[in-house]
Amino acid sequence: MVKKIAILGSTGSIGQSTLSICESFPDRYNVVSLAAGRNIDVAFEQCRDWRPRIISMATEEIASQLAKRLREAGLNDTEVLYGTAGTVCVATLPEVDFVVSAIVGVAGLEATYAAVCAGKTIGLATKECMVTAGSLILEAARKHNVALLPIDSEHNAVHQCMRGGETAEVKQIWLTASGGPFRNTPAAEFERITPAQALKHPTWVMGRRITIDSATMMNKGFEVIEACRLFDLPPAKVRVTVHPQSTVHSLVEYVDGSILAQISVTDMRLPILYAMAYPERPSAPSLAFDLATLSHLDFSPPDPARFPCLRLAYEAAESGPSACIALNAADEIAVAAFLDGKIPFLGIPRTIEQVLNATPSNAPASIEDVLAADEAARECAREIIAKASV
Ligand code: MG
Repeated sequence: MVKKIAILGSTGSIGQSTLSICESFPDRYNVVSLAAGRNIDVAFEQCRDWRPRIISMATEEIASQLAKRLREAGLNDTEVLYGTAGTVCVATLPEVDFVVSAIVGVAGLEATYAAVCAGKTIGLATKECMVTAGSLILEAARKHNVALLPIDSEHNAVHQCMRGGETAEVKQIWLTASGGPFRNTPAAEFERITPAQALKHPTWVMGRRITIDSATMMNKGFEVIEACRLFDLPPAKVRVTVHPQSTVHSLVEYVDGSILAQISVTDMRLPILYAMAYPERPSAPSLAFDLATLSHLDFSPPDPARFPCLRLAYEAAESGPSACIALNAADEIAVAAFLDGKIPFLGIPRTIEQVLNATPSNAPASIEDVLAADEAARECAREIIAKASV
């Protein structure tokens, strides 16, 4: 049976890698709907090459520009929608079997939740969904008997290693972290780290926020929270280990002392294919890993003193959903303020800590509650930064 695919975030790097998988396996996957955001040129090419039934763009204006270009090119198969409602249509189209969730932000959250409620299998590529609305999404997934398959490389690795035993037999899991650009930077220098230094990631070229989140290790903190939710583990059983080679994508330690690790190329097409094909493993020679290139693997514990964001993430994970929402919202505002030169590098964790301290702990009962808590935490972070009290 050909699986019918919806991609939320089709013009981003995960979206493009997903299309590359669909191209390599035309007998397995058929692209039927796309949510594309603001990049009209790439969206136009995707409509031309894939002829989706629906594409959704960020705004009405962008949508009408794309619709005009498609008409002029004689491409009349694709309906162009826009906004969150458009993205929800893309995710819930009746014929869709599998939704790749790779949109950061509100539109991605609402559409992913709607897709779960519509019974679609989900390939989860954004951390935000699990960090801010994990309990709601998991509850809906249980109710509608929906599988959530992680695409983030660490969680994908854990998912693979979890097939080696029962959940009750797991002692703890280990998420690997590259350590970022300041892995070896002395503590005394952290206060003076500039945006230009923080934007230089040693191994990955990524968006600005996630690059800074890697430098502070908040990105790993979000992954800890996501892992607690996805694998139903308490924070104490989700550990982080710094592994500069980024070859082992994560590990699962069982109670009998066995540790299973997943090793593969650092190519996002691999976890995407795993999620899309699960529980099968299709042959993919282009993703082969040459074991002979592997000379050594280093693992060391992260330094909590230099990376307070990691501690804050564990505290939020212990504290509950509203703290996790505040953590994500405050981080986004603080990172933007750091990049604008308004606060120092260590002002990021200081802002987040103040927002967490000011956040009431009431669990959200709906996606609307999540969005309201998110906005309240953003406002709180802006006030703290405006007072220049970090
Ligand atoms: Mg990751």
